[in-house]
Amino acid sequence: MAGRCESCGMPLSKDPEGGGREADGSRSIRYCSLCYDRGAFRHPDATAEEFQRHCMEALAAKGMPRVMAWLFTRGVPNLPRWTAPPHGRS
Ligand SMILES: [Zn+2]
Repeated sequence: MAGRCESCGMPLSKDPEGGGREADGSRSIRYCSLCYDRGAFRHPDATAEEFQRHCMEALAAKGMPRVMAWLFTRGVPNLPRWTAPPHGRS
């Protein structure tokens, strides 16, 4: 199954960098480069709702109609990053 970022839902194949980076420099197979870099989330304190809004603004800024941006991001709160317990799985 093609990997999708577990934080924002973007297919990792669409990520220009092919995935986020772990602390040791290897590619993450779970998170994209926009969400995750060098072993840490770029927006560690964001709630799912804040992050969803952030993604929507980013898509809208790229010229996507807002209704499309909303459709693309409405699943964000259901992704594993946001549904897993905060100190659960690594
Ligand atoms: Zn992502």
